[in-house]
Amino acid sequence: MVQKSTQIRVVWPAKINIDSKIMVNAYLGLGSNMANPLRQVCLAIDEIAHIQHSSLLACSNIYKSSPMETIDNIQQDDYINAVILIKTQLDPNTLLNELNNIEKKHNRVRSEQHWGPRTLDLDILLFGDQVIESEELTIPHPGISERDFVLIPLADIDPALSIPNLGKLSNLVKKCKSHQLEKIKHLH
Ligand code: ADP
Ligand code: MG
Repeated sequence: MVQKSTQIRVVWPAKINIDSKIMVNAYLGLGSNMANPLRQVCLAIDEIAHIQHSSLLACSNIYKSSPMETIDNIQQDDYINAVILIKTQLDPNTLLNELNNIEKKHNRVRSEQHWGPRTLDLDILLFGDQVIESEELTIPHPGISERDFVLIPLADIDPALSIPNLGKLSNLVKKCKSHQLEKIKHLH
C-alpha cells in the first residue's frame, strides 16, 4: 500500500509535465520560385502539417509576387507565397531545424545571394508573442513590415493580428510597398 502511493507520487508529476506542455501558435511564411513553385509550396504545407508535436490550424490564400531586388539585380522568376498557422509544442530552434530539414528535402541550395532564387524558403514569422534576437533566429521575422507577400496572407488568417514591436497588422498592410501581389488560389 505504502509502496503503491510512493509510485504514484513519482509517476504523476512527470506525466503532467509531458501532457501539459504549452502549445504555441506560430505563423510560418512559405516562398518558392523554382522547379514548379506552386507544387513546392503545397507539398511543404503537407510536410509541415506532419512535423512532430505540431498541427496545422490555418492556411492563407496562395499568391504570386514579383521578386525582391537583389544587390546585383539578378533576373529571377516570380514567387509563389503563402502563410500558414500551426500550433506547436516545439521550441523555436527545434521548429527552425524541422523547417530547414524540409527545405533540404526540396533541394534548397543556400547561395551567397541574399533573396536569390530558391526551391523553398520557410520562415518563422511569429512565435506566439515572443520577441527573439539570437544568432539563428530573429522573431518577428525581419522585413515582415516591408513585405506585402507576408502581410496580406497573414491578414487572410487573422486580420486583427498585432505584431510584437510593430503594432496592428492592418496598419502595416496600409503602409506596405507593393510586390504586384496576385491571388492565385482562393481559400478564404
Ligand atoms: P531569407 O529567408 O532572409 O531569404 P535564408 O532563408 O537564407 O534567408 O535564411 C538565412 C538565415 O536566416 C537562416 O540560417 C536562419 O538561421 C536565419 N533566420 C533568422 N531568423 C529567422 C526566422 N525567423 N525564420 C527563419 N530563418 C531565420
Ligand atoms: Mg528563410
